[in-house]
Amino acid sequence: MKIAIIGAGVIGVSTAFELAADGHEVSVFERRSAAAEETSFANAGIISPGYAAPWAAPGMPSKAFKSLFGRQAPVQLGWGMTGSELGWLWKWRLACKPDAYLANRSRLQRLAAYSQQRLQAIGHELRLEYDRSDGQLLLLRSDKDLLQAEPSLQLLRDAGIPFKQLDSTAARSIEPALNAETALAGAIHLPGDEVGNCRQFTMLLKAAAQQLGAKFEFNCSVAQITPAPAATVSIAGKTLPRRFDAVVVCAGMASAALLKPLGLQIPLAAVHGYSISANIREPLNAPVSAVFDAQHQVSISRMGQRVRIAGGADIGSHRERKNADTIATLYKVLYDWFPGAAQLASNVQIWKGACPALPDGPPLLGASGLPGIWLNLGHGASGWALACGSARATADLLAGRTPEIDLEGLGVERLRR
Ligand SMILES: Cc1cc2nc3c(=O)[nH]c(=O)nc-3n(C[C@H](O)[C@H](O)[C@H](O)COP(=O)(O)OP(=O)(O)OC[C@H]3O[C@@H](n4cnc5c(N)ncnc54)[C@H](O)[C@@H]3O)c2cc1C
Repeated sequence: MKIAIIGAGVIGVSTAFELAADGHEVSVFERRSAAAEETSFANAGIISPGYAAPWAAPGMPSKAFKSLFGRQAPVQLGWGMTGSELGWLWKWRLACKPDAYLANRSRLQRLAAYSQQRLQAIGHELRLEYDRSDGQLLLLRSDKDLLQAEPSLQLLRDAGIPFKQLDSTAARSIEPALNAETALAGAIHLPGDEVGNCRQFTMLLKAAAQQLGAKFEFNCSVAQITPAPAATVSIAGKTLPRRFDAVVVCAGMASAALLKPLGLQIPLAAVHGYSISANIREPLNAPVSAVFDAQHQVSISRMGQRVRIAGGADIGSHRERKNADTIATLYKVLYDWFPGAAQLASNVQIWKGACPALPDGPPLLGASGLPGIWLNLGHGASGWALACGSARATADLLAGRTPEIDLEGLGVERLRR
């Protein structure tokens, strides 16, 4: 088949790779001048199937509400939310109920576990060399944090995900540079988790897809798509639409605007997060892999010669305006745990990215209900962890094959409920 993919973030590129590997004639349209320039640019890089969880969780509505009046909450609601963001929040609130949360969490975990297998298989087969490391340590500062972690440990046990509960001495032996002066009540070690540079991986996979024949057209903004029998893609500034047998929408946050004129309303909201990346000053003072501070909901990960601190989740904020309080929290967490790790005087990259999030959490995969239009979008805060599995499943569905995992609850039909 002749297939168009819209968007060259980690989702579009992995989809291009899988479809090209299946022998299709693939064209990827990307409005930026390179792959992974938007949300896939500088994310935390963590792949943690056990902690792939929806943002819609019990207790979150009250945390989010309190953030309207506090400045350092991990979740921030802005006062300037649009009508569609308020509508999204309403649906999100319904998805925070315990039953909905557990169902969505297990859908995400299933897809994340499959994705990690695919990521490892692809990385191994193609010998992709990108900055990566193994394992994640969840840091619990206080007895209260230990207590709050307990329900998720039961979910890890139920899902058969290996983990170890550690005291502070054992935790410090896994991450020897952890600051001894910061109180640590205990930690959870997830040896099967990993950290990887999503942007580097995306660039390498793009090159692999090109070798399989996929064509990438950069600086090409798709203005319009139409469904089959004459599925077309119209590029801004070009008069003639291009014809394809199928179009896969992987346009991250912009997907909703592309699909709306076709009558498909996708409730996507931008949940903004932040990262700070800096060169490592002294490797012995830096993390070996990733740590996650449960209290502040901030991760610190090793990215080769750099360290990356990531966190924050704000909705209703302006894309270009960075929240100084969130950035201050990221620096604080870095100083608390790895005070001498980074060179902060120069070459520091402070980045804000927009996670394309559906209110209930899982992404939308598969047929759109419009002939010839397929979806692989809305991966929220776990797009890197979900990319390779989502791409393989989308390619299988397009070929009329049964995917290797159960995709219950990931299709467009759930929007009609
Ligand atoms: C601070 C932060 C930390 C994160 N940490 C993690 C993590 O640790 N683990 C994890 O799994 N995930 C993480 N994420 C989430 C992850 O980064 C995203 O889920 C993922 O990057 C989404 O990929 P995407 O390809 O859907 O979107 P994008 O990377 O945004 O790609 C969409 C592409 O479509 C293009 N496009 C849009 N419209 C058009 C158009 N009309 N024509 C042509 N091209 C178009 C855009 O230019 C863009 O390149 C994090 C996100 C943030 C912000």
